Amino acid sequence: MNDFTNKVETIRKDFPILDQAIGKHPLIYLDNGATTQMPTAVLDALSAHYRTDNANVHRGIHTLSERSTASFEQARKTVQSFVNAMSSDEIVFTGGTTDSINMVARAWEDRVKPDATIAVTALEHHANFVPWQQLCKRTGARFEVIPLTPEGDVDLDALGEVLHTQNVSLVAVAHVSNVLGCVSPIRTIADMAHEHDAHLLVDAAQSIRHENVDVQELDCDFLCFSGHKMLGPTGIGVLYGKRDILDELSPVRFGGEMVDKVSTAETTFEEPPLRFEAGTPNYSGAIALAAAIDYIESTGRADIAAYEHELTAYAERALESVEGVRVLGKPAVRAGCLSFTVDDVHPFDLATFMDKQGVALRSGNQCAQPLLHEVYKVQNVTRLSPAFYNTTTEVDSCIDLLARTVAMLR
Ligand code: PLP
Repeated sequence: MNDFTNKVETIRKDFPILDQAIGKHPLIYLDNGATTQMPTAVLDALSAHYRTDNANVHRGIHTLSERSTASFEQARKTVQSFVNAMSSDEIVFTGGTTDSINMVARAWEDRVKPDATIAVTALEHHANFVPWQQLCKRTGARFEVIPLTPEGDVDLDALGEVLHTQNVSLVAVAHVSNVLGCVSPIRTIADMAHEHDAHLLVDAAQSIRHENVDVQELDCDFLCFSGHKMLGPTGIGVLYGKRDILDELSPVRFGGEMVDKVSTAETTFEEPPLRFEAGTPNYSGAIALAAAIDYIESTGRADIAAYEHELTAYAERALESVEGVRVLGKPAVRAGCLSFTVDDVHPFDLATFMDKQGVALRSGNQCAQPLLHEVYKVQNVTRLSPAFYNTTTEVDSCIDLLARTVAMLR
């Protein structure tokens, strides 16, 4: 383990929720792929905003409204800098990854001709699968699912073939799979897509905390993520879009603040990003998200990533020693999560018994039924997803308890 290990005990003190027992057992929270916990700095930022500055944004000229608006727009700049966007106008605040993807999929409808193809991969979360499938149903476009290699990475040869032989309008791909933890080579995929005049949307829900997400380096056209998967609150998310593409997209939600002029005869719209933020935005969520980014930056983004990669690899090695366990996929890099089955043990039983011993693991289809049911031919799995506030001791305890639980259930 790297030097970060020595810092973890101090870091844990920043996360009050971790210091509790489930029944008689200390909580071991290893379900960070589903949601992460908030440090005191983020909880305090949220509370401070409501205690001293709260007012609706972009509407009033009174002091609180101006303070609130300034903090909200500062949060946009913080996000811009975090993902290295060219301009804060490229940052649209949304309700989360699902909301961001749906927004693009709706807006993309205008650009899709019936002979076009939308390509997703076999490892997508339903949030990056179903909106595109539905778009294809509405427009008559072809819905193409790019297969995986036997290791569980996106099959780039198959993607190349589809780009070469079909009129691909957009490729939608996860940066990091929420099941396998594999990291997709986004820059390579972007270059391949652009060479064929296709656009690229990246689902960064799982990568935003583990990877260095630099939209200029990745050269993606859209990038989507959620605040709650990176130490922020629920209900806030981000849609990054290249400015010239956002300029061309029509809004899909209408209401206050996204309009320029409204009359009975006609309505004109604001420029991006406001054009895509109809109604009262989740400004307090955005302000708390900026606090989460500050926390991540001050803790050290690269250190967090390296530690989480190591902890995941450590957990994988330990898991392989448990009888009957089969870890899905063997990708080149696993970032922050891995999923497994245990022969003759149902994931729900396993997760229930683990919970009784204080360990929070995710069980189910992980919102990735095509991957589980069609690729791996399993109904459900158990997922272990550590964060940088987890320790090797916690992983050891988890695996020890798991081995005993498996022995009891089999
Ligand atoms: N994409 C991936 C890869 C995810 O892991 C998730 C959530 O687990 C989502 C999309 C959806 O995120 P949200 O529910 O925050 O919209």
